[in-house]
Amino acid sequence: MSLSSLTATPKVILQLCISTIHRFLSVLLTSLHWVRGSCKRPASVAPRLEQHEDQTATTPTSVNYHFTRKCNYKCGFCFHTAKTSFVLPVEEAKRGLRLLKEAGMEKINFSGGEPFLHDKGEFLGQLVQYCKMDLQLPSVSIVSNGSMIKEKWFQKYGDCLDILAVSCDSFDEETNQLIGRAQGRKSHIENLYKICSWCQQYRVAFKINSVINTFNVDEDMTEQISQLNPVRWKVFQCLLIDGENAGEDALREAGKFVISDDQFQEFLERHGGVSCLVPESNEKMRNSYLILDEYMRFLDCRDGRKDPSRSILDVGVKDAIFFSGFDEKMFLKRGGKYNWSKADMKLDW
Ligand code: SF4
Repeated sequence: MSLSSLTATPKVILQLCISTIHRFLSVLLTSLHWVRGSCKRPASVAPRLEQHEDQTATTPTSVNYHFTRKCNYKCGFCFHTAKTSFVLPVEEAKRGLRLLKEAGMEKINFSGGEPFLHDKGEFLGQLVQYCKMDLQLPSVSIVSNGSMIKEKWFQKYGDCLDILAVSCDSFDEETNQLIGRAQGRKSHIENLYKICSWCQQYRVAFKINSVINTFNVDEDMTEQISQLNPVRWKVFQCLLIDGENAGEDALREAGKFVISDDQFQEFLERHGGVSCLVPESNEKMRNSYLILDEYMRFLDCRDGRKDPSRSILDVGVKDAIFFSGFDEKMFLKRGGKYNWSKADMKLDW
């Protein structure tokens, strides 16, 4: 029996089976439709089939591995929620990372949940070190809320890390509290400045990620972002994902955080003078990330929810990626491939 099926809950296994059968049937039925000599493909399935055909050749150049779903924050719009507490054994995670490297991975990003939470950052540190030293990946990065990072971690693993992105949606503590981007009354903003200075000291490129939603859409962050001077400021439009932050079995209800495309555009125009800003609308975000969950299954977001493939540990990268829904063209269009190794960045440390 496979590792992931040993460890997944019966509900997860059932969901996985239904989803896989559903996808096989839809591809099969579409193929039969063609074999029987029909001259027209049904409009609803035609683009999906073409994408599957294309995806047999997809290279996992840049992968986001959400190895844990647990987090100490409670952001109201979170779209990768604590639906399980599962984390792979470290040796299995390394095996999966090696498979990805052999399939062409150049950049790995560790994310969650909060990646520094599990084993106080040791699990993460070991994977970061493995990817840089053993696999020699050009780029190793982390996205974190920043609250659990200690200077000791930088001393031990900082050399192996190219980029650290910290999430910050507001420079007003009250707004962070309202969003849920906080643990108790601890200052998220003070922490952000501390991590920024550690990144300078330990030579890690510093990035900021912000989710624009109803609570921060009118804010002007120009001054603080200019002070912090990140290499990239990623600005996301709040996104709804069924089963994560929308719909019946979701752990969050993010409807009240959603903003319109026009509101997002206004926010971007207000920050037009910030040269490191990289905007990401819902359209750009939806399928342009290769996302691996805690079982190392690719998540397909095309239908507005996250449908898992089988684990790369069970079927290999090529078969699993076939069901990832990854849109390589959009990945390139959103500038997904950039100067992502700190050795190549001209940073003023
Ligand atoms: S910090 Fe990230 S993972 Fe944690 S609740 Fe917020 S959005 Fe979700």
